[in-house]
Amino acid sequence: ESAATTPPSIDGNVLVAKSLARLGVTHMFGVVGIPVTSLASRAMALGIRFVAFHNEQSAGYAASAYGYLTGRPGILLTVSGPGCVHGLAGLSNAWANTWPMVMISGSCDQRDAGRGDFQELDQVDAVKAFSKLSEKAKDVREIPNCVAKVLDRAVAGRPGGCYLDLPSDVLRQKISESEAENLVAEVEKSRKHEPIQASLKSEIESAVSLLRKAERPLIVFGKGAAYSRAEDELKKLVELTGIPFLPTPMGKGLLPDTHELSATAARSLAIGKCDVALVVGARLNWLLHFGESPKWSKEVKFILVDISEEEIELRKPHLGIAGDAKTVIGLLNREIKDDPFCLGKTDPWVESISKKAKENGEKMEAQLAKDVVPFNFLTPMRIIRDAILAVEGPSPVVVSEGANTMDVGRSVLVQKEPRTRLDAGTWGTMGVGLGYCIAAAVASPDRLVVAVEGDSGFGFSAMEVEVSDTLLNPILWNCLLSCFKLLSLMMQTLVRYNLAVVVIVFNNGGVYGGDRRSPEEISGPHKDDPAPTSFVPNAGYHKLIEAFGGKGYVVETPDELKSALAESFAARKPAVVNVIVDPFAGAESGRLQHKN
Ligand code: ADP
Repeated sequence: ESAATTPPSIDGNVLVAKSLARLGVTHMFGVVGIPVTSLASRAMALGIRFVAFHNEQSAGYAASAYGYLTGRPGILLTVSGPGCVHGLAGLSNAWANTWPMVMISGSCDQRDAGRGDFQELDQVDAVKAFSKLSEKAKDVREIPNCVAKVLDRAVAGRPGGCYLDLPSDVLRQKISESEAENLVAEVEKSRKHEPIQASLKSEIESAVSLLRKAERPLIVFGKGAAYSRAEDELKKLVELTGIPFLPTPMGKGLLPDTHELSATAARSLAIGKCDVALVVGARLNWLLHFGESPKWSKEVKFILVDISEEEIELRKPHLGIAGDAKTVIGLLNREIKDDPFCLGKTDPWVESISKKAKENGEKMEAQLAKDVVPFNFLTPMRIIRDAILAVEGPSPVVVSEGANTMDVGRSVLVQKEPRTRLDAGTWGTMGVGLGYCIAAAVASPDRLVVAVEGDSGFGFSAMEVEVSDTLLNPILWNCLLSCFKLLSLMMQTLVRYNLAVVVIVFNNGGVYGGDRRSPEEISGPHKDDPAPTSFVPNAGYHKLIEAFGGKGYVVETPDELKSALAESFAARKPAVVNVIVDPFAGAESGRLQHKN
């Protein structure tokens, strides 16, 4: 049948769904509404799992984390105008963390643009700061090509977010089934493959020679190495050379935290004294103190392995190797094997690091061993660590946010497998927790997901209803009711899809915990209002999930926590464990006091 003889029966929504399915998309996250509702239903009918959220921000966070966990762009679907703006939270998070993601937004009718159309916004302009590539389909026939372009660009080179704009008139426009099929088949055929990696022979030789000559070498790896799935190569490199290693927070697990060459517990010594640092898939940004003294030695020589040439130019390392982490580390291993060298356990540098790590580890264990009630951060964290370690089968994915909760959790919780830790990341974004949980549960259905959250971090995307009764007035109450409806429906997403997610809330009654104002800060006409950091003490966060048929626990003692974790981990059903923590146990701004 020719295109001309079949009646036009495929509209833009169907064609987008068809293009996504045929180009390999299996999951989407989003919020439906005008003009993209049928796009989501059509995608589902074609076998794509559509996870429907109530807030584009969380759906966007989910899409970005899905991109990181799977190596395929996470897809966020939003409506126009406000939907797109809410989705920017996710798109910017993908940009900041260099994770592949595609935001697809409906937009207003092209004819009515500029005249105040329903939910009108120049979305291509609005996403500019966070999008590697933005495409607008101006005609239905452009859809398959636009879809392929954004999907491919999101993963090409340094991963990141891309944007696809779909005007509502284009989504309604129809073509024949045969024409649609031809357009999609054409794009499938012409899809470009990854460019061949340039020869890196001389860089590889120089890197190996630097490592060989170093007295105090260190291997640092980050979430770029995790994204690249470089775990086997890194393990081999560490085994071959005996060089101590230091993961960044999300690099944790590429090699097990329990490995004898892990320098995590001797971090200050390792970075302060190393003379050559091989940094793989991790930026020398604030998280690594910009690679500068006094945290790092002035003399340290950096060997930077990064997929992004731009990153290497920015940092001006002693030696830069632009390439995929897995490939580059594989090449280093091959080069080393020809003429092996290995530090050995009695090497003074290795010895000093393991001694320090052991000492610090013992100090920490002594603190952790105490059962402190009312709970501080350490006691419940130890119980959570042990419960996670006791899970049989694939390691759970740990999602963590909140100032103190994330800080303490980073040093206490043990990561044994790659890509099993998701936290506030490069931007220190709070509010990512629930979106990340949902993404992890969907991306790795065989793993339990355990979120270890501060009450403040949790509240961003779960609930903000905890205000004191004295503050209630009718306007506020209405506003609260709608907040409650919206945010608690987020919790419902866990229940609705019956995901194996246990959210543990460290409930210390506020941002950083309780009211920490100095006397000078308590004055003026509103001095009797709660502090900006305060929430209702002992808020019943667990009750939110009970409202939707999930399981809630509130715990105040080690035994109660142990039993809640044993039961909820075994059930593999959505649950919230509300852990009541002493409001004065944490520190203001966690470990970043100097930045507040
Ligand atoms: P961390 O937060 O763990 O320190 P960053 O997000 O700062 O990690 O750095 C990740 C780096 O990894 C980015 O500079 C990014 O360009 C890089 N990267 C992404 N994918 C790859 C890859 N496949 N191979 C090597 N580097 C990669």
